[in-house]
Amino acid sequence: MNRCPICESPNNELLYTNSRGKRYLENHVCSNCGFIYTWPRISNAEVSKLYLDGDFSKEARKSTEPDLDKFIQTEQYALERIHHLEKKIPSFFSKAKSCLEIGCGAGSFLWLLKALGHKVIGIEPDSNFVKPVQKRYNIEIETVMFQDYPKGILFDFICNFHVIEHIIDPRAFIKEIYTRLKDDGYIYIECPTIDNIYTGSLDTFFWDVHVNTFSNKTLPWLLESEGFSIIELFMNRGFVSVIAKKGIDKRFKKDNKQRIIDIIKENSKKKTKKSLFSNLNNKLKIRLKKYL
Ligand SMILES: [Zn+2]
Repeated sequence: MNRCPICESPNNELLYTNSRGKRYLENHVCSNCGFIYTWPRISNAEVSKLYLDGDFSKEARKSTEPDLDKFIQTEQYALERIHHLEKKIPSFFSKAKSCLEIGCGAGSFLWLLKALGHKVIGIEPDSNFVKPVQKRYNIEIETVMFQDYPKGILFDFICNFHVIEHIIDPRAFIKEIYTRLKDDGYIYIECPTIDNIYTGSLDTFFWDVHVNTFSNKTLPWLLESEGFSIIELFMNRGFVSVIAKKGIDKRFKKDNKQRIIDIIKENSKKKTKKSLFSNLNNKLKIRLKKYL
């Protein structure tokens, strides 16, 4: 049955059906909390297969393993995230922490944390993708799905960047992180947000591997409802980021369906205007420029 993956409400509206690669994809908006999710959803077993077999790397990452350009790019991103951490939690680097990154990809963020004296472990299901990462950085990476990672080890810090939008049950994912964090531990998450259409068009923003679309409201609201207190909510390179710790706080409200529908309407208008213009030939564009 079609129920919202984070609040379980059965009430929703079909929001948008175009997606990247010109594929038909149903994104629904929850009438209760404003969360956006794809429906129908694939099963957890199918998701695990997609990531463990390397099909995700081939399809979405466009390569079965990271090359030098990829490493250089992710090292830059990692450096920026370290700066955010330093700014938002000044005490973070005062003593060595145990850190876990879920979906560590090219591993650059863990490599920097390790260089700063922290103990790091990565989880990345695609074993082929991981080989050059271990070779470059010499860091410990487990090639399993997060839910299958051995329980009982508690961490000071758990992060994931561009992972939660792929997770079939995002509430269970946050719960799982909570149970694997020490009482004074921190969580750091980054993902796309409907509050910034980072691709410039809804037709490429929605993508079948992104089964969840958070907003700047639904992400902190979900975290608070699972026992986290938000230290900082901020944008990084057009994506929403949250740093939080365990604690009881209710500062963030759920989102509103109408606000989401208005964002979609606003961005649909932009698309129509842009595509009309781009279909004109260049000479005509120059002549019409003063009128457009
Ligand atoms: Zn909901």
